[in-house]
Amino acid sequence: MTTHGASAVAAVLCFSVAALVMFRLFRAAWRPGSAVGRGHVLLAGGVVVTTLTALAVAIVVQTRPELPHSETGRLVLATIAACGTGLGAGALLRGVLHLPGVAQSGRGRFRQLLDGSQLATGTSFCIWTFTVTSGRLEGALLKAVTTPYFSVPLAATALLVGILVVAGTRTARPRAGLLLVFAGAGMVALGGASLALCLVTASATGLVAGGAAIAAGGGLVAYCGPLTERVGPPDEAKYRSSIVHSVGCIIGFVVGAGNLFLTGDGWMDPGSVGIGVAAGFALVGRQRMAIQDERRAARFFAEQENKYRKMAHTDALTQLANRRGLMQVLTEQAVGGPPCVLAALDLDGFKNINDMRGHDIGDRVLVEVGRRLSANLRRGDVPARLGGDEFAVLMWARPDEAEQVAQRLLGALSEPYMPDTGTVFLSASIGLAGCGTANDIPTLLRNADVALRVAKHRGKGRIEQYDPAYDRLLRRRITLEHELRGAIARDELRLAFQPVVALPSVRPIGVEALLRWTHPELGTVSPGEFIPVAEEAGLIGPLGLWVLHQACHQLAQWLSDGHDVWISVNVSVRDLHSPAYVKLVADVLRAHQVPPQRLVIEVTEQEVAVDLDELARRLTELRATGVRVALDDFGAGYSSLGQLHRLPVDILKIDRNLLVESAPDGRGSGTPFIDVVVRLGHRLGLTVVAEGVEEVHQRRLLEEMDCPLAQGNLFGRPMPAEHVEAMLAASAPPVRALPASPVSSPSTLLALPPVIDRVPQPAHKVGQVDSAHEMRNA
Ligand code: C2E
Ligand code: CA
Ligand code: CA
Repeated sequence: MTTHGASAVAAVLCFSVAALVMFRLFRAAWRPGSAVGRGHVLLAGGVVVTTLTALAVAIVVQTRPELPHSETGRLVLATIAACGTGLGAGALLRGVLHLPGVAQSGRGRFRQLLDGSQLATGTSFCIWTFTVTSGRLEGALLKAVTTPYFSVPLAATALLVGILVVAGTRTARPRAGLLLVFAGAGMVALGGASLALCLVTASATGLVAGGAAIAAGGGLVAYCGPLTERVGPPDEAKYRSSIVHSVGCIIGFVVGAGNLFLTGDGWMDPGSVGIGVAAGFALVGRQRMAIQDERRAARFFAEQENKYRKMAHTDALTQLANRRGLMQVLTEQAVGGPPCVLAALDLDGFKNINDMRGHDIGDRVLVEVGRRLSANLRRGDVPARLGGDEFAVLMWARPDEAEQVAQRLLGALSEPYMPDTGTVFLSASIGLAGCGTANDIPTLLRNADVALRVAKHRGKGRIEQYDPAYDRLLRRRITLEHELRGAIARDELRLAFQPVVALPSVRPIGVEALLRWTHPELGTVSPGEFIPVAEEAGLIGPLGLWVLHQACHQLAQWLSDGHDVWISVNVSVRDLHSPAYVKLVADVLRAHQVPPQRLVIEVTEQEVAVDLDELARRLTELRATGVRVALDDFGAGYSSLGQLHRLPVDILKIDRNLLVESAPDGRGSGTPFIDVVVRLGHRLGLTVVAEGVEEVHQRRLLEEMDCPLAQGNLFGRPMPAEHVEAMLAASAPPVRALPASPVSSPSTLLALPPVIDRVPQPAHKVGQVDSAHEMRNA
């Protein structure tokens, strides 16, 4: 085939491909503004420019058939082909760089360009030394490839191929579509280049092969271009760390240089020098980018570290400092710094909010607590959340100033929370410890915590300044808790009974069971001290059960002896919250065969303030079994009347302090209150017991007020069971072998009309009841 014919074949091939590419790629690409679309348009442009160049050459050859026969003519044609191919390669290159899966950022593209140029220069140098420098090319071909307007387009093609190889090896999967487009673009560029070279040498086969390569490559680009949308994102980190291209470049140079020395005299022509210089720039540029990348990475990591360090010192929920943050401030600023006070702060009853309103509401309350803390502190003070509902504040202040700030905080924290979605009320307890009270930070934290615990024990919603004496208190508390655990097993507990007498006869009609603990080393520990410890340590359940068993056991004995008496036991409100409690009481009564009417459960009014509704339900259930309920220490709290309205009780026990405040002449501040309570009792049909009667004038006062029952040292201190028996026996002869018909003691009936309406049935087989055994069973 002649050049004439071959160019016609190449032209037809190219023309058909150009049409196909135009149609498919432009259709797929027509999405204005999209990077992929731009990439497709550029790819299509590259293929079209290359094919049109081939077409133009073919048309020239067809219209000027004499041109390929002269060397100059061939050079002109080849130069046209080379320029078109170079332009096409440029467009293809830009198009490829816009495809998904290829580095997207400007920096990434530049990096890819440098990597590609390293490969291209390495390979080109190798080919150059093997062909041009070692004299294997001659004549027109040598002349063509060494002229700039021919060699520059060839270099563009080499660069494109280099970049395609780099991008192809570094693209994340799935990448088949992209690799096919790369292959197509490469074939178009190489086809164009071979067309140009074959025009120079007038190789008809080469011309047809070049046309076919352009056609096949263009077809591939046209077909696979739209597939590139499914390509995975590029792995830029891989690009950054890769040195394969540099190695490839150096290998190319080593092989080329080796060839120069082996085949020639080591002389380098301007072409090889130019390629070497280009490779040097590419290597240096890449090096610089690597350094910049390194610096950027270092900066990024430093920022991240800063961010995470800050996060590690900040509480995620409230944005206050966390424990670690507070420790850091304490370590860096408090030791040897200005006077400071550490406040440990705990929310009273926060657990109830979480349990009853859910954790979301709990979290919102905590956030609000954090906000109020921050809003009520002075400049520089550091609020922190240590976990749960535990907060702390480091104040740069003297103790008296710190106490003022703490008062402000208490006030702010007791304001209602979330009035929009069901108001929540909270109070807080605060323990303050001056930085001077401790030699190191852990001790300071501990001191603040000790003060906080004392504040909680002393009634919550208050502030305590740390006092070294608190340490002793705390140690004693810990010892008590520890020892209390084994007190029942070691048989260290006893019950004392304090008589309740009817007025004015002073006849004992009931007793209150009071717990006594005698420890071999600690001595006698008062219930006022160990009961709160037991409650806090969760020991009150077993203790209460023991008391109930012992009291019922004793009562059964007295009843079997014929004494007309009832017994009251003190019950912790914590026990009453347990749904099983009512059944437990019924079981104990049954076990000792005691009528429920003979048992009084005393609940303390202050404790009652906790959860009124549940307590009311439980007391109603208890009363339904026949057990009676007494409201203890009535008048010592602050909302007695409101509670009385809602709580189902039978007996009111007037708090001892009201009696203490009643002066001998009856004009003391407590007197009117007692009077009111007694009348209230009458009006509501409740039995009233005045507690703590020590003086004769108090007894007289109570008699004048018509108070039916009284209890106090005046009538008998808490005493062992035998003493009670003696009192009962002295006041009325024991009723033995009671008849089945109801016979009641007048005094008892007078005192408790609604309940004791029948004579107690003597308990059977009381002697066989082993209360310890019963308790273990329970
Ligand atoms: P409480 O229920 O108010 O018991 C009455 C307390 O007042 C008893 O103190 C009693 O000894 C004392 N008392 C009685 N008459 C007089 C008097 O004329 N003058 C003075 N100054 N005091 C008098 P005690 O035995 O130390 O008990 C203290 C508190 O411990 C009780 O107060 C009660 O709340 C609690 N407690 C006692 N035993 C138990 C128990 O078994 N279980 C529970 N949960 N708490 C108990
Ligand atoms: Ca009591
Ligand atoms: Ca009491």
